[in-house]
Amino acid sequence: MNACPQCQTSVSDDDKECPKCGVLFNKWREREENVASGNLSKYATMANATSQEFNWTILVIVALAVAGLFIFLAQNAKEAMKDI
Ligand SMILES: [Zn+2]
Repeated sequence: MNACPQCQTSVSDDDKECPKCGVLFNKWREREENVASGNLSKYATMANATSQEFNWTILVIVALAVAGLFIFLAQNAKEAMKDI
C-alpha cells in the first residue's frame, strides 16, 4: 500500500493514479524531481509570467475572430441582397 502524495488516500502499488483526487503518480514524481532540482520554480514563474499575457492573447484573438466573422457575415448578406 502507498499513500497518495496529494490527498494521502491509500492506493495500491500498481495504481497509476489516485482514485480519489486523480493525481497521476508518475507526473507527480516528475514534478517532485523538478522541484528538487529547482526546475519547477523557474518553470512555474515562467508559466505565471506568460499565463496572463496568454489570456490577453486569447481574448484579442477571439475578439478579432468575432469581428472578422461579423464582417464576413455582413459582406455575405450584402452579396445575397445583390442577387435578389
Ligand atoms: Zn489523491
